[in-house]
Amino acid sequence: MKIGIIGAGQLGRMLALAGYPLGINCTFLDSDSNSPAGLVSAIHVGEMDNINHLDSLAAEVDIITYEFENISVEALKAINPSVQIYPQITALATAQDRLKEKQLFESIGIPTAAYVQINKPEDLKSVEKKLGWPVVLKSRRLGYDGRSQHVVDSNSSLKSAWDSLKQVPAIAESWVNFERELSLIGVRGINGEIVCYPLSENVHKEGILRTTVAPYEDTELHNIAQNWLFSIMEKFDYRGVLTVEFFHTEQGLVANEMAPRVHNSGHWTIEGAETSQFENHLRAVLGLPLGDTKPRGYAAMLNFIGNMPSTIDALKISGAHLHDYCKKPRLNRKVGHLTLLANKREDLLKKIAYVKETLN
Ligand code: AMP
Repeated sequence: MKIGIIGAGQLGRMLALAGYPLGINCTFLDSDSNSPAGLVSAIHVGEMDNINHLDSLAAEVDIITYEFENISVEALKAINPSVQIYPQITALATAQDRLKEKQLFESIGIPTAAYVQINKPEDLKSVEKKLGWPVVLKSRRLGYDGRSQHVVDSNSSLKSAWDSLKQVPAIAESWVNFERELSLIGVRGINGEIVCYPLSENVHKEGILRTTVAPYEDTELHNIAQNWLFSIMEKFDYRGVLTVEFFHTEQGLVANEMAPRVHNSGHWTIEGAETSQFENHLRAVLGLPLGDTKPRGYAAMLNFIGNMPSTIDALKISGAHLHDYCKKPRLNRKVGHLTLLANKREDLLKKIAYVKETLN
């Protein structure tokens, strides 16, 4: 079975590694020959938006998927139609645009933060009255890991924030006073087979995910989130992994965004669940039976941002599972992560504290 994957970052690397035991061969397309997935698997070096490069990938594989969201939908649509692309391009197009994403949530009845569309300078004037302060100004497209977004609390800072985004189409979104952030990862396979991981609890700093602890145990909340996730999947006749991120507020869950791909908040599933999100994504897009999503006790994932800790120090920690993406150190870049497992939540929390202290 040959699968073509657009984008060869760490998500691609973990997909490739999950494919090996099943005899699934991944071939990547990325402009960087030293990308994390290119170091462990076959890679075509080329632009991800170039139809010739996409078609030469398509010529070699049975199915195409992607691990990177900012791919041109037009280029994907132009790929030779004999090769199927999963998840569906319509889901990708929605996730690429924060306005479309909000409208999707609204159409299904999923609560989401109030917002105002910003397309022209006059639109800025209604923000204070409609939303109050603070608001988060987010570009509609190309924002990830807190990029292209600003928290502002006055008309003048809103204007300068939009100027700094070069006045691209944006949304101003009310600030959500959340108690915690949660995400739900589901997988839909061939013939509508669906499985779902438990809720994960995520801590972000400066818009970047730092830590995930799973499962977050709240059956009622899980069922609500799962129904929403499944409704989104039905809507797109979805194949693959889909992630929805939520704010958990006093009033319940508020959807923030969705990702039509494997997700950082699911890295814990490699060691912490019966079948990882990566293996299940491959199974789903290839039309294979889906694997059990049951957690193996409690798991935590700690991201390394900017640079890796000393490998020796990390490996000295009993039970720590180290993942080094082999990326060059760079400010705010995700370069690796570590997974911890425990049978009891309180033991896991102690282990996290110990790792944070030990690895600084
Ligand atoms: P996003 O790129 O939309 O996922 O935002 C990254 C992170 O910024 C989120 O995970 C939150 O921690 C924070 N954030 C984004 N939007 C809001 C909001 N409306 N209210 C509060 N925090 C937010």
